[in-house]
This record gives sequence, C-alpha cells and structure tokens, in this order.
Amino acid sequence: SDRSTPSPLSIALASVLERARPKTSGAVATYIPELARADPDQLGIALASVRGTVHEAGDSDAEFTIQSVSKPFVLALALEQSGLAEVTRHVGLEPSGEPFNAISLDEHTGRPLNPMINAGAIVTSSLVRGDRADEKFAVISAGLSAFAGRSLDVDEAVYSSEQATGDRNRALAYLARSAGTLASSAEVATTAYFRQCSLTVTARDLAIMAATLANGGVNPITRERVVSEDVARWTTAVMTSCGMYDASGEWLVRVGLPAKSGVGGGIAALQPEQFGIGTFSPRLDARGNSVRGVAVLEQLSERHGLHMLQHR
Ligand code: GLN
Repeated sequence: SDRSTPSPLSIALASVLERARPKTSGAVATYIPELARADPDQLGIALASVRGTVHEAGDSDAEFTIQSVSKPFVLALALEQSGLAEVTRHVGLEPSGEPFNAISLDEHTGRPLNPMINAGAIVTSSLVRGDRADEKFAVISAGLSAFAGRSLDVDEAVYSSEQATGDRNRALAYLARSAGTLASSAEVATTAYFRQCSLTVTARDLAIMAATLANGGVNPITRERVVSEDVARWTTAVMTSCGMYDASGEWLVRVGLPAKSGVGGGIAALQPEQFGIGTFSPRLDARGNSVRGVAVLEQLSERHGLHMLQHR
C-alpha cells in the first residue's frame, strides 16, 4: 500500500478510526504485567482483500503481542495436521458463554468447550506436531508466519511475564491432562501456548492472516496455500460462534463478521471470499475485547453493510 496517495478505502478506514478515537474507556491488560506497558492511545486498522491489496490507517504498523488472536490460526494448523475428527476428540465446538480464562471442561467428555477459550487453546497447542515445546512452537511459529506472509518474532519480555504469572493456565492444562484430553505434558503445552501468545504482529499482519482464511486458506499476498479450504471454513465457523468469548452472540448481531480478539488489543475479522481486517487498540472492556477495536468494526459493518447475513 502506498501511504502517500491514500485509497478511497484507506480514507474510509481513517474516518471510522477518528469516530472511535474519543472512546477512552476500558483499560490495558495488567494481569500479564508486561502488557501494562502498552501505550493505550495507539489505534490502527488494516484491510486486506482476497485480491491482495492492503489498505491501512492509523497505527497499522505498531507491534503488539497476538495473544488470543493466535487461537484460530493454531486451531487451523491442528486441523490441517490431524483432521476434524481427531481435534474434536480433544476439544469441543460449543460457545461457552464464559470468560476466556474459565475453568471449563465438559463434565462427560473432559473436553474444553471450544478452542477459543484458554482451556481449549492449550489443548489445541498440545495437539500440534512435536514432542518438545520448542518443536511444537517451531511448527506454530512457521504456520502463523505463513498466514501473515512474513516471519513473526517472539516478544521475550511478554513471554517471561506470561510464564511468571501463568498459574491459572497451568491449572487448566493439568485439568485437561487429568481428563485425558491434553496430548502432551502440561508443561510442554503451556510453554508452546505462552510462546504462541507472545508472537508480535501488527494490524496489517492480522488483516493478512484473516484474509488468508477469507481466501480459503491461500495467503492473498504470497499466494502460498497455508491450509485447505475445509480447514479455513471450519476455523471461520469457530470464530463465528466463539471468537469474542462471552460477547460472541452480541457481536454476531451487531457486527456479523467472524472475528477473534486478544488481550494485547488486537482483533482479526473477516468476510469470506472478500477481505480480512486487523485492528489494534490496547484498552479492553470487561470481557477482554478491545473497546475501540469493537467500536471501529461495529461502525465499519454498519456504514458499509458488511454483516454476513446482510441481504445482498
Ligand atoms: N496469553 C493470554 C492468556 O492466556 C491470552 C488471553 C487472551 O488474549 N484473551 O491469558
């Protein structure tokens, strides 16, 4: 994208950013101490079309940790590797209506309710190929980099901070292990998961990652096939039902785009066969979703008729 001659679309993106900018409610995540250092005023957006053009506005190049926005992409890698039947032996597909860090395991099957909450995401990471945490993480890092079309790095300070304060996630891993649904040791699964959450991205990266799902698994910039069309569709379906935690139902009504949020302030959203959008703004609401990210996507969807159930 050439920022010296803004496209009509970049102007539209800049306009929704300015509408959302005055919303300073919410707070940056502090339960992972290193995340508290984020500049709360940052605000950025990017849109990548399945044709391979990228439009950006605001702090679209600012780096932040991907956190839970990694979950659908790691799910896609696990599905690609093991198939739907094997993955769903370990983790369910039902919206939990519960917070992201809920102690959530189905009482009959021992499975976490879905792969978008921490319990399910840790199980998903345990399913990724490799015996050791560094082997699993190498697969995850290469896979997410292929989705983004560039090599992603770990923020080591955030990673250490997650390890130091991650006892609740460890507890979730041990519970899943005792229920027989974790495919590795708890230590291996949480280490891979903490590193995955600590990968740094930009709003532009999230837009391209989401556009890869929108494009049926082929990165629209690099043209690399990252996952199959079935896997892209299954992953998008899980984002639709579970991507915004206990705000997923409300989100589906108001915005109507498959999406995933993270406590680093990022949101990835997409319209199948059309585009991916990435937003970044670090202040979070009570559910852990970016306040201005939600506002921006709500505005965009409303103004431009992007709701997936919109009559066309
Ligand atoms: N690493 C964070 C955690 O496990 C991710 C949570 C999130 O983004 N919602 O708590």
